[in-house]
Amino acid sequence: MAFVILEACQTEKAGECTTVCPVDCIEEGPDQFYIDPDICIDCAACQAVCPVDAIEEEYDLTPDQEIFLEKAEAFFANK
Ligand code: SF4
Repeated sequence: MAFVILEACQTEKAGECTTVCPVDCIEEGPDQFYIDPDICIDCAACQAVCPVDAIEEEYDLTPDQEIFLEKAEAFFANK
C-alpha cells in the first residue's frame, strides 16, 4: 500500500509533503508531486500537512482516482 497524490496538487504544488516524508519518496513532476509507491511506508505524515487535501491512501481511492496511482508508477518507472 502507498499514499497517492491527486489532482488538487496540480494547481497548488505546495511541496510541504516533501519536507516531512521520512523516507524521501516524494518528488516533483512536471504537473504535480508524486509519491513512489514502492518506497512509501504509509506513515501519513504527508497527508497531514497537505494544504489542499490532495493525498489519499491507495485503498481509499475512488475508481476515477486510480489513474493517479498509475501516473505515479509511470513517473518513477521512467526515471
Ligand atoms: Fe512519505 Fe509517509 Fe507520505 Fe508515504 S505516507 S509518501 S512515507 S510521508
